[in-house]
Amino acid sequence: MTAKPAAAAARATVYGYPRQGPNRELKKAVEGYWKGRVTADALRDTAAQLRRSTWQHLADAGIHEVPTGDFSYYDHVLDTSVMVGAVPQRHREAVETDALDGYFAMARGTQDVAPLEMTKWFDTNYHYLVPELGPDTVFTADSAKQVAELTEAIALGLVARPVLVGPVTYLLLAKPAPGVAADFEPLTLLDRLLPVYAEVLADLRAAGAEWVQLDEPALVQDRTPAELNAATRAYRDLGALTDRPQLVVGSYFGRLGDALPVLAKAPVEGLALDFTEAAASQLEDLAAVGGLPGKRLVAGVVNGRNIWINDLEKSLSTLGTLLGLADRVDVSASCSLLHVPLDATAERDIDPQIARWLAFAHQKTAEIATLARGLAQGTGAITAELSANRAGLASRSGSALTHDPAVRSRVAAITGADARRAHAYPERAAAQRTRLGLPQLPTTTIGSFPQTTELRTARADLRAGRLDTSGYEERIKNEIREVLAFQEKAGIDVLVHGEPERNDMVQYFAEQLTGYLATQHGWVQSYGTRYVRPPVLAGDISRPEPMTVRWTSYANSLTDRPVKGMLTGPVTMLAWSFVRDDQPLGDTARQVALALRDEVNDLEAAGTSAIQVDEPALRETLPLRAADHPAYLDWATESFRLTTSGVRPDTQIHTHMCYAEFGDIVQAIDDLDADVISLEAARSHMQVARELAEHGYPREAGPGVYDIHSPRVPSTEEAATLLRKGLEAIPAERLWVNPDCGLKTRGWPETKASLENLVAAAREVRAEL
Ligand code: GLN
Ligand code: ZN
Repeated sequence: MTAKPAAAAARATVYGYPRQGPNRELKKAVEGYWKGRVTADALRDTAAQLRRSTWQHLADAGIHEVPTGDFSYYDHVLDTSVMVGAVPQRHREAVETDALDGYFAMARGTQDVAPLEMTKWFDTNYHYLVPELGPDTVFTADSAKQVAELTEAIALGLVARPVLVGPVTYLLLAKPAPGVAADFEPLTLLDRLLPVYAEVLADLRAAGAEWVQLDEPALVQDRTPAELNAATRAYRDLGALTDRPQLVVGSYFGRLGDALPVLAKAPVEGLALDFTEAAASQLEDLAAVGGLPGKRLVAGVVNGRNIWINDLEKSLSTLGTLLGLADRVDVSASCSLLHVPLDATAERDIDPQIARWLAFAHQKTAEIATLARGLAQGTGAITAELSANRAGLASRSGSALTHDPAVRSRVAAITGADARRAHAYPERAAAQRTRLGLPQLPTTTIGSFPQTTELRTARADLRAGRLDTSGYEERIKNEIREVLAFQEKAGIDVLVHGEPERNDMVQYFAEQLTGYLATQHGWVQSYGTRYVRPPVLAGDISRPEPMTVRWTSYANSLTDRPVKGMLTGPVTMLAWSFVRDDQPLGDTARQVALALRDEVNDLEAAGTSAIQVDEPALRETLPLRAADHPAYLDWATESFRLTTSGVRPDTQIHTHMCYAEFGDIVQAIDDLDADVISLEAARSHMQVARELAEHGYPREAGPGVYDIHSPRVPSTEEAATLLRKGLEAIPAERLWVNPDCGLKTRGWPETKASLENLVAAAREVRAEL
């Protein structure tokens, strides 16, 4: 490679880093503060120390430009709302009394006021707090946090680049404040917001920022011409400012598409682009706009949201191509490393042969530094890293774990018939009616019953060796007996065993399937102080033995009523895990589906007449661009049917999803061909029932009549009113009566009272038929 000046200048950078610290120090400090055990000063100290050690780590690892402002006590979108002064009316008093308490009031609510709504950050499992805006919103600049963090990093002698949520994305993520017309478009506030960003940029420049990154991930989604126009205006205006740092506009989670020409032409000094997802088309698009002459390109070549080692040679080749397309090419991850755990070397229980395939934030940082060095000095400067990387990749692709011949040949033999029930729905419905003998408006629950402290303690005791397996199983059986006895007494028609043996609806299955890994320390922020440890789909998936049959059979043995078997579906298993990047998602889904299919068939063979396969993640995994929806829905619905189509016509397949708005996937829900679906509906007053009816959904459905998200007990009348509403859309022969979702987060007293009222409501409405 001839050493071009651009290459010689290549720099390594990242857009953000895990916030919690190696031992979840931030979580502990924040929760301690909430409980009054940690003072505000101690919390601030912990946070400052974590920031310092992160920056120092990054610098030591060879990152030339560290990010600032990505740190957060709770959420970076909430931080942006504070930065632009978009504090909802109901939180003003709290914020004015004490900024930190007011901040947490917006995040979590108080006795008297509701928090901001929370929703998924694009197609990740991170959740942000949704800004609430209206025509009366007045923005005011508050750059204190941004300036303070930049100042801290500079004081360490580091080159730092503040990373902020960009103004267009901020507005596109917002929703109309309560009381504001639902069709109000926050984007109409752009002209009011830009001067505030201008002020923040001026403050950051004064504090020593040479560069600032404004993230616009909303531009990788389908955008209307008006929205693209807004982006044009935003960056024309910000670009025209005289008192500002140089600007990089960041994008990630996909290709920019129509937004690329907009940003390429904008008077900003740099773009950060994702070259991991849809890399080929991003490259083509970039060439088509004539590259980025005169601009800095930050190339996200290391995947910032999976946990696999990078293919360094492939990345170097992408970077080499990019050198011809921009003035200066820097190396980064595709997005903030917030979405991956901190350090793979902390995983002592993972076989070292597999652990070498893993790259968490620390390892990705090293890859980025290596790539920047290779780009600047030529591959001769990184021969050792390249050969270790090559060996790691080879070990992965040649491993028996990633290529199990039995799994492979089984997947290859799948036929269309395997993913279709042998009988049409009307025949199945008749057979199931005979077998199950249920009343009209049958009552059921979604699966889990309260996960009591005793259950959690028993699990912890088992792990710590304080309780042996038989002692633990005895406790689980006791719990199942209680759950069954209550349901019988309450008069519920289709019972559940209550899922007391499950720590989590995905992890429980991941732990029992071959090819699936659990991590010890792989914590990733889900929201605020909630961190999860997603399991890793590492290899070909198989089921060494039945996973749930004994518990369901035990429950079955205690009652004459039907007990539903309870499984997590293949799409949800993928959505809440780290997935393989060495084969299409659909292939992984089919492997998981075949393992679950065996479980479904075994449940049936053990005498289970109804089996529920939960797919709460079906909609949240929908790709960001509409053009990619059909391919996704195709493998998603196929893998569900593959899971459920091996049963007799008189075995009733249920599914469950917990969201109230699904207009855009109602066809996909129909394509699942489940006999019964339960959905969240209580808060939206049965909106889903109407949507199903409009679509002509032909099968049975249970729109929830009990909102399980709060400890509130719905009265019999309330539940009956919702049920009557449901009957306006769905005929009595096809309507079920159930709560919105599982009861694991509820306490026993409210669960009992609520379910008793639910049964009473069903009886009352049955009498009116
Ligand atoms: N069966 C699961 C439960 O009841 C479903 C959970 C979910 O939908 N998220 O807990
Ligand atoms: Zn649910």
